[in-house]
Amino acid sequence: MKISDAKFAGSSTRVSQKPGRRLPEFAFIGRSNVGKSSLVNMLCRNGKLAMTSATPGKTRVVNHFLINDSWYLVDLPGYGYAKLSRKALDDLKEVVRDYIFNSEEMRMLFVLIDSRHDIGKTDLDFLAELGENGVPFSIIYTKCDKSGPNVLEDRLVRNSNILLQQWEGLPPIFRSSSQTGMGREDILDYISDILNPNS
Ligand code: GDP
Repeated sequence: MKISDAKFAGSSTRVSQKPGRRLPEFAFIGRSNVGKSSLVNMLCRNGKLAMTSATPGKTRVVNHFLINDSWYLVDLPGYGYAKLSRKALDDLKEVVRDYIFNSEEMRMLFVLIDSRHDIGKTDLDFLAELGENGVPFSIIYTKCDKSGPNVLEDRLVRNSNILLQQWEGLPPIFRSSSQTGMGREDILDYISDILNPNS
């Protein structure tokens, strides 16, 4: 898929307030600092669409971006912030859960995981919750340029084994780098296949 047009369409904290057009939605989530904003910008080839920051935790709202006037890319607030208060964390959880469990238009949730780390309890708990609630998800490993090929391969195999202790099969898995553009075509083609299953 070619992205010819990407524009910010609105922020919300409740699904009832999201942009009014009923279009298919593809959402992105991950722990803070996982590289989500960089990935969104890389996919859209727009360096400024999503706010990238060295300070984790800037996005506390659900951001909709209208792509090619036909679907929404949805940038969800991260999870697993170490520095937030209990109350702020609970509020954030509520924003995320309200969206992923109630947005009828969400076709796929991409869960981003940093390829430099073993998959952790926060991620596993989150994936388990998705499974229990029947939310369709895929995994995108981020920052794949940061490790050598053998180290990367070993870690991703280890992560798959960790996932297989909890799941009967693996979800679709993508490798990405916002530095090199790795994964861009695969992810966009996958979205395109979901949008146009018969083409
Ligand atoms: P977010 O908090 O998940 O939105 O993460 P950001 O996109 O703001 O990225 C966090 C940090 O990781 C920034 O310093 C980025 O420059 C860096 N980063 C993000 N993606 C990549 C990547 O694919 N490769 C490398 N080398 N660095 C990345």
